[in-house]
Amino acid sequence: MTKHYQVVGNPIAQSKSPFIHMAFAQQTQQHISYQRACPEVDGFLVEAQRFFASGGLGMNVTAPFKLDAYNFASQLTPRATLAGAVNTLAVQEEGSILGDNTDGYGLVTDITQQLGWPLRDKKLLVLGAGGAVRGVLQMLLEQRPAQLVLANRTLVKAEALASVFAPIGPVETVEFDALSGFAHGHFDLIINATSASLAGDLPPVPETLIAPATYCYDMTYGAQPTVFLRWVASLGVRVSADGLGMLVGQAAESFRLWHGVMPEVKPVMAALRQHLKA
Ligand code: NDP
Repeated sequence: MTKHYQVVGNPIAQSKSPFIHMAFAQQTQQHISYQRACPEVDGFLVEAQRFFASGGLGMNVTAPFKLDAYNFASQLTPRATLAGAVNTLAVQEEGSILGDNTDGYGLVTDITQQLGWPLRDKKLLVLGAGGAVRGVLQMLLEQRPAQLVLANRTLVKAEALASVFAPIGPVETVEFDALSGFAHGHFDLIINATSASLAGDLPPVPETLIAPATYCYDMTYGAQPTVFLRWVASLGVRVSADGLGMLVGQAAESFRLWHGVMPEVKPVMAALRQHLKA
């Protein structure tokens, strides 16, 4: 019997979730349908009620509905509670709806497993303090980095996140201007979690921070390297990655939650990379 899933966002036409989940389903021999839904920005509740009442078993949730999904869930995982945002809803055996957040899993497994780069004792700089950062801070802190600095245009948003995640580990917060106070190559890893790349912009990071050995990650992904990844390459950076692995990794964790089987990420990443270029 076919099991029904969907991804909800606005806009949603660009979402690669149907491609990824259908590829996972083929790999693990699950019979599923996976659709896109695009309610109005105030229409999440009605859409979620309609979908689950019609027998839907799981939903992925993207911008701008992750907080709506958090409020909709009847139970939350600890990581979704801490993030204050839900990207995965799953019907439980007794009929309640569990809300989870798999973004942190996607990012950290991409960096530590796919790219083979442990984060323990490393100095990390995260740029941005929006929804994506909320979803990943817990898992980044749980890797026990030597330092985690959060830089954001609007400092108060970074400070609010630092206080939410303080029980997990220390987060230092700075404005972009203050980054020039750090030495050349101070950070082992810089994660661009701003949405600047979507607009073709660079976050205002001083180039003195970037050394050839600085590992640079941009959560944004696309057919071409982002402007941030092109910029760090022009400064001699040797290792960098976009957020495609995070995207496929967070989807894999949602898939495991729904189907009880963890799919293989690497072949689906390769297929998606080809699909983006086509
Ligand atoms: P939000 O809208 O919640 O937050 C955007 C963040 O970017 C804010 O911190 C904002 O700063 C900052 N920002 C925007 N423009 C600029 C700029 N020109 N210079 C400096 N800072 C800027 O977005 P999300 O957190 O949800 O998403 C961030 C990015 O991560 C997006 O590109 C998204 O596509 C990507 N993403 C990728 C995922 C993946 O699986 N690969 C998963 C989730 C997100 P301020 O607070 O000052 O406004």
